[in-house]
Amino acid sequence: MTISTTSPHYAIAIGSNRRGRHGGPRAEVTAAIAALPGVIAVSRLIETTPVGPSSRRFVNAVVVVACTDSPPELLRRLKTIERDFGRRRGRRWAARVIDLDIVLWSGGAWRSPGLRVPHLAYADRDFVLGPLATIAPRWRDPSSGRTIRQLASRLRKVDPTPIRS
Ligand code: ATP
Ligand code: CA
Ligand code: CA
Repeated sequence: MTISTTSPHYAIAIGSNRRGRHGGPRAEVTAAIAALPGVIAVSRLIETTPVGPSSRRFVNAVVVVACTDSPPELLRRLKTIERDFGRRRGRRWAARVIDLDIVLWSGGAWRSPGLRVPHLAYADRDFVLGPLATIAPRWRDPSSGRTIRQLASRLRKVDPTPIRS
């Protein structure tokens, strides 16, 4: 897939770990993709089942949308979709029907009250970089200059529990 660099576009990360009116997390993510304007690339839906008694299954995907909105305008739209999907106000990282995060913008970096693009944590998240690398491997992170493919393989090389011999 080739993303035209001449028209403005965004990468959006989608996540769900709660049932909504469309069904389970997978149905909610699929419905959110259908609700987004200007979708030009869609990753596969990935599923993670965290361990623990009260854990919920997460479904994640990443899309690229062609969109001339400014980042705050797009965020406003995403929040409208989240509300429409029945997301309640709550703590950060609480269970939610749908979560829509702006990951990257073709215009580069953006910073305003309540909004940072690139998303502050995306480069540390396998469930974002993995799917994103399949649809936009050559997109460069504006802060580090690294491509998504590089960031994704770098993350996979990190061993969180080194074994001493
Ligand atoms: P995280 O941002 O770590 O993935 P979260 O998605 O659970 O956590 P939310 O409760 O959905 O966090 O959002 C908290 C606030 O983050 C939003 O109200 C929004 O104003 C702000 N925010 C800042 N940067 C972004 C961005 N790039 N995309 C979406 N929201 C953002
Ligand atoms: Ca999020
Ligand atoms: Ca969010």
